[in-house]
Amino acid sequence: MADTGGNSWEEKDMANVFHGFTDFPSLKENGPVVLTHGEGIHVFDVHGKRYLDANSGLWNNVAGFNHTGIVEALCAQAQRFPGYHSFFGRIADVTVELSERLISLSPFDSGKVYYTNSGSEANDTMVKMLWMINRRKGMPERRKIITRINAYHGVTVATASMTAKPYNSEFGLPLPGFLRADCPHFWRFGLEEETEDAFTARMARNLRDLIEREGPETIAGMFAEPVQGAGGVIPPSKGYFDAIRPILREYDIPLIADEVICGFGRMGTMWGSDYYGIEPDAIIASKCITAGYYPMGAVILGAKLAAELEEASEAAEEFPHGFTAAGSPLGSAVALKALDVLETEGLIDNVRSLTPHFLERLSRFGDHPHTGEVRGVGFMGAIEMVADRKTKAPFDSKLRVSERIANKALEKGLICRPLGAAVVLAPPFIITNAETDTMFDLLEETVADVFAEIG
Ligand SMILES: *Cc1c(COP(=O)(O)O)cnc(C)c1O
Repeated sequence: MADTGGNSWEEKDMANVFHGFTDFPSLKENGPVVLTHGEGIHVFDVHGKRYLDANSGLWNNVAGFNHTGIVEALCAQAQRFPGYHSFFGRIADVTVELSERLISLSPFDSGKVYYTNSGSEANDTMVKMLWMINRRKGMPERRKIITRINAYHGVTVATASMTAKPYNSEFGLPLPGFLRADCPHFWRFGLEEETEDAFTARMARNLRDLIEREGPETIAGMFAEPVQGAGGVIPPSKGYFDAIRPILREYDIPLIADEVICGFGRMGTMWGSDYYGIEPDAIIASKCITAGYYPMGAVILGAKLAAELEEASEAAEEFPHGFTAAGSPLGSAVALKALDVLETEGLIDNVRSLTPHFLERLSRFGDHPHTGEVRGVGFMGAIEMVADRKTKAPFDSKLRVSERIANKALEKGLICRPLGAAVVLAPPFIITNAETDTMFDLLEETVADVFAEIG
């Protein structure tokens, strides 16, 4: 028999599990956190220690960790019809019901839904859709994809090429043909003396230059998160989408809104696109669609792209693409119930009404001598730490400031996420004002302790 390591859960994990997106020095030093269950916005580890999860799992467990209604919907569907695919024109009835619901919730008057198991797969699928449409339209050279610096669109080979983070150079990515536009983060990238309006105008001008330089006839689409999430919660500069939207229209470049984080209420609106009035050509959804209780992603095509894809697929006799487990009846039943909970049971209303308190508590970090920027919208916020407030110079990465904050917070029973030089908060939509206060009290203590250590 293989030696599977020691006897504790942590030892067994260390011996047998390989963790992605995990800080190895922290893992080596502190070990993994092995969890057993959750209650409301809290999760519990194998030792019975309770943690307030200020990140809704990975932005997705927005109804908390033990929502009875969603669990019951999952169980009921499991009794009725637990699994089926959606190839060859077959599909479970609940998946049809979900599709009707998603189109009615979407910004589109009509359209089509295509299911995947994750946000990465949905973005990846969208790229293939654009490529196929263009080839069938006789424009095979129209393949390049524009995303923005600090974008996060996933981890498959294509979507890692779209994710504009330095770590993807570990894989020799991006692939050729994946272009980078600017990140519209005024605080970080605004020039000295530049107003926010002038900054936004520059972002738009640079996008036009990029399109002209590459050749508009070679560009298949631009993908953008309404608020960049994993890039560190970066809302766009004022007027950004209003400024770039007409440019994309002018060159007939579809705009795909990656709503994997913003969608389904994170900003107090159904979509981030509603919040900024974006009018996308398609939407990429995942994460909150099942409140994190089942893997699911979806491409929601607006009428124009849906018609174009249909035409291309008729000419090819099929759309030769699909994931075995996608559009499953279990996931669909969970999503239908999760959408009820979000829409009719008041979760999005809760986000909207508690946002002012959340943002007020967040803004108090602005007084801290090492806070460069505090930013947030809806139920997502970030506190970016700097060594020098004037020059915005970051801390020496060796100091590992945001990692230390996250580790210290964990000791205190708070799960929050380090993202670059920022600490990110994205609480579950069921949080109360009292719990919001507890969350921020714990974080304030944590930050004070860490800076006392650093000196
Ligand atoms: C999480 C995320 C993805 C990738 O989703 P996975 O389900 O992890 O593949 C894509 N886009 C955005 C904006 C995300 O936040």
